[in-house]
Amino acid sequence: MTALHPDPVSPASLEAPVRDVPGGPDEPPATAPRRPSLSPSRAADFKTCPLLYRFRTIDRLPERKSLAAVRGTLVHSILEKLYDLPARERTPEAAQQLLTPAWEELSADPAITELFEAAESGEQAPSLEQWLASAGKLVESYFTLEDPTRIQPEGREQLVEVTLPDGLLLRGFVDRLDVAPSGALRVVDYKTGSMPREAFEAKALFQMKFYALVLWRTRGVVASQLKLLYLAGGDALTYAPDEGELVRFERTLRAIWSAIERAVATQDFRPNRTRLCDWCDHQALCPSFGGTPPPFPAEAAAAAGWATLPVVERD
Ligand code: SF4
Repeated sequence: MTALHPDPVSPASLEAPVRDVPGGPDEPPATAPRRPSLSPSRAADFKTCPLLYRFRTIDRLPERKSLAAVRGTLVHSILEKLYDLPARERTPEAAQQLLTPAWEELSADPAITELFEAAESGEQAPSLEQWLASAGKLVESYFTLEDPTRIQPEGREQLVEVTLPDGLLLRGFVDRLDVAPSGALRVVDYKTGSMPREAFEAKALFQMKFYALVLWRTRGVVASQLKLLYLAGGDALTYAPDEGELVRFERTLRAIWSAIERAVATQDFRPNRTRLCDWCDHQALCPSFGGTPPPFPAEAAAAAGWATLPVVERD
């Protein structure tokens, strides 16, 4: 594992990627039969604050997108499209040329253009040109970490999922999956922030171990390398899990899931106030900040497949 250096706590520590917010691509389509599942982000939510988990996953309350999160989506999209090009054409210049079409695609979403218009009215907000240039810098930084002309991914933005024998459905999206001719697996995740300090490194590895567990359970192969690329600082963090660790990690996920099921059954999701609350969109509804959560949406939860206990009327 590479050496770490301190990095201030970032709002991104609490912020869900744009694809992973309620209604985002990590969620099943509205027409698909819904069934509760666990993703790395949702597991991390519950560990951070059970009430935050409820607001995001069960109430499905809307959240504001941030320019930083949208920039992350833009950079991920460019790096995904880069690998559509023939290997020898994956140059830094070609990657920069993907910036404008990727932004045009993203900005077709009115919520994203509105966000930008709102930000532009603030004195501290960057102009669109500055913001796009900052995304271009992150893409440039990618080339200091890897040579994409020498990589042929098996998958990009790939859905990985498995149902464990006890019925727990694990699902998530891997930024990139590389498979060597020997069958060795490498899981790669792009981060648009800087490398985190140790406490947050554990959170990043939690996500990667989650993917490694799903791949192990579906392919029978323990990934040889989990690789996090921190584009802001041009750092890489690599980790090689072993089978015993994945067995223990599976137990951890089961314990988190049992705690979630208990919370749903009792409709008891406690707030957990930490400094990450500064970036939570739901303070107005949070008892830790003098707010009152809305009534538990029992019917919606049941329709989504959660097994809930009958609601007990209280005086
Ligand atoms: S503000 Fe409330 S709901 Fe949000 S993270 Fe903090 S304790 Fe949890």
